[in-house]
Amino acid sequence: MKRSVDQALFAALNEVVDPVLFHSLRTLGTLRETKLRRGVAEVHIGVPGPDYPAESELRRRLLAASGEEVSEIVLNLVDLTEDERSALGAKLAESTPMTAPSAAGRDHGPTTERPNPFADRSSATRVLAISSGKGGVGKSSITVNLAVALAQAGHSVGILDADIYGFSVPGMLGVRYLPIVLGTTIIPPVAQGVRCISIGFFVDEEQAIAWRGPMLHRAIEQFLVDVHWGAPEFLLIDMPPGTGDIALSVVQQLPRSEIYVVTTPQDSAERVAKRMGSLAKQMKIPVRGVIENMSYLETPDGSRLTPFGEGGGQRLANALGTELLATIPLVEQLRIGSDEGAPIVASDPEGATALIFAALAHRIAGLAPTRIFRKELTLS
Ligand code: ADP
Repeated sequence: MKRSVDQALFAALNEVVDPVLFHSLRTLGTLRETKLRRGVAEVHIGVPGPDYPAESELRRRLLAASGEEVSEIVLNLVDLTEDERSALGAKLAESTPMTAPSAAGRDHGPTTERPNPFADRSSATRVLAISSGKGGVGKSSITVNLAVALAQAGHSVGILDADIYGFSVPGMLGVRYLPIVLGTTIIPPVAQGVRCISIGFFVDEEQAIAWRGPMLHRAIEQFLVDVHWGAPEFLLIDMPPGTGDIALSVVQQLPRSEIYVVTTPQDSAERVAKRMGSLAKQMKIPVRGVIENMSYLETPDGSRLTPFGEGGGQRLANALGTELLATIPLVEQLRIGSDEGAPIVASDPEGATALIFAALAHRIAGLAPTRIFRKELTLS
């Protein structure tokens, strides 16, 4: 009788999803032992290392999955050995729905043996390259809040922070721990339901800015290939501002990207359009919309001030032959949320700004996935 109770508990707890490794303990093979005595369950679980960042969440999930007879979980975390970590990394890499290497994977000669899953034709992930003509227009803030809004709408979402002029995404998203490296597989940290990788986790900004194109190219390639993204529905790229070599190098590896351009009302529509238009044309990827940021400031009496002028977003959309998808107001709380790692969309989900992001997320999710491919990648 006792034995079957223990077995039932073990089976139930095995289905609990590890909050940082994103898979059930059964898939991970990390549930070692459970013992139930007078309502107290002693549970032994293997974790990547001593700084496992989600102990209390894991305990909460274990308790929720236990039957009524369990009133307390005593959690015993056991560090995996180096070999076990590597084996787990390899297993997780396999569990990502990867497809066979294609012409796209061979484009630049992969640095690892795995193909770039996002370049493959069969990938269901929509890659949203969030771009801007210059820095400081709110591109990273929009990337983060849009990602959280997409996650809130039930989509699986990742962000790749490729803006080497300021790795701001982890801070804005509120990422609290570093990526977990399991052999050659990198598990991205998750915050607000969004998985996130930033080059800033691995090198500092001075170093990255000094990088030449090929080094950045390899770093991005590694992040696309070795990070356990889990085939998300959306991968948002916080692009380097502008349309220089670095931006080119990023989209080169993501031939299925869709470009979204963030602008302020006073940006020169002609100049930004010319640059973005030529990037899109050169890479044969579509510009799918413009997002105008800092469009207006709402005063307490309900009137709107437009300190940065008006109409830049629409002019840019017209010049690019695309649509203006949203106008985001200047909101102090948005800036504070970014500074504190509590995106406004998450901290005030019913507020007016969050609703604007929710509408933007809905609009983007409703756009049909792009079917434009570079000719040279066509398989015959
Ligand atoms: P970029 O990525 O284009 O360089 P950021 O997202 O880092 O720009 O934004 C630059 C600064 O402006 C940040 O301090 C950010 O919090 C602030 N900011 C961006 N958008 C808004 C907004 N709509 N309202 C208030 N502050 C904003």
